[in-house]
Amino acid sequence: MKDTASEYPIIVAGAGPAGFGAALSAARSGGKTLLLERNTCVGGLASSGLLGFWGPLDNAARNKCDWERFRLDREGKEYTGRLKIGQRILGGIPAEFISRLEKLGGAFVPKLGFTETDVETTKFLMEEMLLEAGVKIIYQAQVVSASYEKGFPVLTVALKEGLRKFTAKTVIDATGDGDVAFQLGAEWRQGRDSDGKCQGVTLVFRIGNVKTDYLDFLPDTELSKNVSAAAEKASKSGEISFNLKGLGCLSRDPSFNGNFTVNQQHTFDIDGTKSEELTKALINGRRQIRELVSFYRKHVPGCEDCYLIGTGFQLGVRETRRIIGDYVITGEDVTGGRKFEDGICRNANFLDIHLSKDGDKKADSKKTGTWYEEAKEVQPGDWQDLPYRALLPRGLENILVAGRCISGTHEAMSSYRLMPTCMGMGEAAGVAAALSLLYNTSPRKIDVKEIQSVLRKHEAII
Ligand SMILES: Cc1cc2nc3c(=O)[nH]c(=O)nc-3n(C[C@H](O)[C@H](O)[C@H](O)COP(=O)(O)OP(=O)(O)OC[C@H]3O[C@@H](n4cnc5c(N)ncnc54)[C@H](O)[C@@H]3O)c2cc1C
Repeated sequence: MKDTASEYPIIVAGAGPAGFGAALSAARSGGKTLLLERNTCVGGLASSGLLGFWGPLDNAARNKCDWERFRLDREGKEYTGRLKIGQRILGGIPAEFISRLEKLGGAFVPKLGFTETDVETTKFLMEEMLLEAGVKIIYQAQVVSASYEKGFPVLTVALKEGLRKFTAKTVIDATGDGDVAFQLGAEWRQGRDSDGKCQGVTLVFRIGNVKTDYLDFLPDTELSKNVSAAAEKASKSGEISFNLKGLGCLSRDPSFNGNFTVNQQHTFDIDGTKSEELTKALINGRRQIRELVSFYRKHVPGCEDCYLIGTGFQLGVRETRRIIGDYVITGEDVTGGRKFEDGICRNANFLDIHLSKDGDKKADSKKTGTWYEEAKEVQPGDWQDLPYRALLPRGLENILVAGRCISGTHEAMSSYRLMPTCMGMGEAAGVAAALSLLYNTSPRKIDVKEIQSVLRKHEAII
């Protein structure tokens, strides 16, 4: 096995929102950076997973009333309700990326709230930004194992040409699943405390030729209510073979042309760290999506002639390993808006826990008509700091984690897993990795004040 020792002292594994933020900021901060991605593009769930709906850059916490704001914002009207409070909590790379995406016509950016994005422009722009900064990207490069040699992480990577070794001074694990930290022996937890089950997984899909004003698809409309009634009937009569709860979350392609991204079907009881389980969910997802598209054509006004454009290349896995770090973020930290001296990124999303099992007793899905196991609000206008310590796997050196696999509880991760937040924490990890190189030390030994100072210079909000 060939070793490319030290040519790229910073290695980022995984090029989702977190890995993109990490690699870009490490390179911009002066570190020679290699980005390894098992898929064929940058973006993770935002591209391979087809998710064109980015969480807010602001803190006007999302909850039921948010749809009213969403509608008024799209109609260009002023919102005067209770959630008027809202300020930017994410700057830096997430804000720069969304703004550049908008300029390319790849994003519909509201004043507050969720941004609708085009996945092809996302792939293109992320790649261009990384190349501009001098990041070396290798696609079709899956980290399959990792170990320490002389105190430094050595990754074994499956490339097209075979297995190859890469030695890093500092590695950033942005695989979503914490694959690298796990291989290096980190402590980890997965799923809810009671039985280790993770939130349901979703294969996202896109449909075209929809002829309805998309605001009619928001959950509080007459159309939505009628579709929910039709869905219940269809599930009972056997027209649909699974428990359908109405319309999913539909977001527009910014170019519109009647194209929508649909985040709807769920497969339960899946361990997203196992290939066989992922396969089961992908097959089930594709089967359900065929039924869903037929249902849309028959029962959803405006969708009579819609067709399936495509399904995600990467399954939408909400939750797998959470790598235990020097601090474990809790649900109370999130809902209580806790601030930390070592805060490196802000989060203001509600606790967004999807069901782990259909028909689970704990679920309040009957009440909400959705797949939520829990949807606990956070204080609108407030935020929670994500502490640097949550990026440092306990007991391991020369490694940082970023993205949904950082150190937190099942409840906390359901909140900070949104894509702009993952990108923001990636940005902080990238700065820390570059500083660790500069001072020739482990990221744990870096003075967090220096990381914060660099982040502020880059217009991150902390
Ligand atoms: C169905 C669903 C709906 C969601 N809806 C929203 C939403 O509306 N808005 C929002 O903001 N967020 C949403 N989220 C959350 C968000 O998409 C994820 O939490 C976020 O993408 C996590 O970012 P990440 O970079 O940590 O992981 P990912 O986006 O999963 O990226 C990880 C990357 O690492 C690569 N990788 C994995 N393992 C390896 C390996 N061993 N070697 C090399 N590469 C590897 C993957 O291919 C991928 O590119 C949703 C999530 C799901 C599943």
